Amino acid sequence: MSDLPFIGHHIGGQRLADASRVQDVTNPATGAVTAHVALADAATVDAAVAAARAAWAAWADTPPIRRARILFRFLELLHRHRDELARLITAEHGKVFSDAQGEVTRGIDIVEFACGIPQLLKGDYTEQVATGIDNWTVRQPLGVVAGITPFNFPVMVPMWMFPLALACGNTFVLKPSPIAPSPSLRLAELLQEAGLPDGVFNVVQGDKVAVDALLTHPDVRALSFVGSTAVAQHVYATGAQHGKRVQALGGAKNHLVVMPDADLDQAVDALIGAAFGSAGERCMAISVAVLVGEVADRVVPALAQRTRALKVMDGMELQAEMGPIVTAAARERICGYIADGVREGAQLLVDGRTFDPAQAGPGCAGGFWLGGTLFDHVTPSMRIYREEIFGPVLSCVRVPDFASAVQLINDHAYGNGTACFTRDGHTAREFARRVRVGMVGINVPIPVPMAWHGFGGWKQSLFGDLHAYGEEGVHFYTAQKSIMQRWPESTPKGAQFAMPTAS
Ligand code: NAD
Repeated sequence: MSDLPFIGHHIGGQRLADASRVQDVTNPATGAVTAHVALADAATVDAAVAAARAAWAAWADTPPIRRARILFRFLELLHRHRDELARLITAEHGKVFSDAQGEVTRGIDIVEFACGIPQLLKGDYTEQVATGIDNWTVRQPLGVVAGITPFNFPVMVPMWMFPLALACGNTFVLKPSPIAPSPSLRLAELLQEAGLPDGVFNVVQGDKVAVDALLTHPDVRALSFVGSTAVAQHVYATGAQHGKRVQALGGAKNHLVVMPDADLDQAVDALIGAAFGSAGERCMAISVAVLVGEVADRVVPALAQRTRALKVMDGMELQAEMGPIVTAAARERICGYIADGVREGAQLLVDGRTFDPAQAGPGCAGGFWLGGTLFDHVTPSMRIYREEIFGPVLSCVRVPDFASAVQLINDHAYGNGTACFTRDGHTAREFARRVRVGMVGINVPIPVPMAWHGFGGWKQSLFGDLHAYGEEGVHFYTAQKSIMQRWPESTPKGAQFAMPTAS
């Protein structure tokens, strides 16, 4: 192996450099290989689960307020190391630095929420459900839980999961994406520095082999997954078959509706930012502009002009608006979709394939570059409309009226996020009420819910019923127990054979 850094596992508080299978880690801006990452086999996964299992009993018995105090210290460290984490994200994902800072901040929000765990775990109590009998409910931790995360938010998505899982008293095994693995180890170090006992948080680097080992492992009680729909379905089905609680968040195709009464400048700004921010590699990116009535003739030329003017540069450049595509393979896949769109008869107004990497900055010639791409006259039967492209490609679909816009969205297989731009309160209310999508924005293009509201889509965008983070996150990582109690003094004499009722 070369002199490049080696990214290993974090198990039981120790670094483990198992190098039997490895993968290159690249900087997408330059195309250079910057490190090698380990790919765990089943034995390494087993070691991580064993470490988590060994640490569980003591951690579950630690009073919630003491668990919260460790998270408060972690929070402080995250603030102190925010820019360092953001730099790690940009170096392996490519997104612009300010966007990476925002990602860390949204993760920090969840840790703040998790710091309130004593309040969140309080439970319910009913005195005197029957004479001399009280009934109450507590929520108890599950045991070892695992998180499997995608490349596109290497800090935020793991932090949708582990802060709450740990706060609830579980121990955790994180399996991050091998495309952007470095932040996971830095997070493990910061947790250790905050005072988290060894074995409570573990990281196994890896691919499908590690995921399948987690899915079938008898000691893993629950799994949170975020990634593409095909893998989400596999994780949900296999995990459930092996008796685990699973929440599996999948892909997306998010529509933004522009009504004729909308502030069109605001709508165009929103579309450009939400379609091309993070190179469209966000599950909440807007990839379809639904233009109602005559607005198309005004919005499309403005979108074309703004798409051509995008500042596509190395993410560390201050003025960059969009960075590179994450890998050469992802760039190929996206270019394939653009070719398909042309073949199927959509009108290609701006072709990102013609982008010249020389404009991206020094040293970027070998990077995975693509400019923003804009299609008009896209129809629901086209592949570029039906499938998730996960790149900087915006498709405009023209519809005659509001009802057709809602129908279009409701007919789509995905249901993660959507938005409607309008100045009319009734239209806004009807949209929020009728649309079959999990997260809705009114004049807000990317309505990612705050830490205490919970994140999750509908249809092919989420398998399982509990959303990530928020109170649903607490429910996911705990089992409810109901306790009914009567003390002997109040026990009536003699056996009772009829169904007990509130007497
Ligand atoms: P991915 O599905 O390729 O990978 C996700 C995770 O699964 C990674 O850890 C990966 O190593 C693992 N994995 C990949 N293939 C596997 C297989 N065959 N079997 C088992 N495990 C496998 O996703 P990605 O490319 O890393 O991320 C992009 C996708 O994630 C997009 O579809 C995007 O919409 C989705 N995403 C969804 C949300 C959401 O909240 N719904 C958020 C972020 C990303």
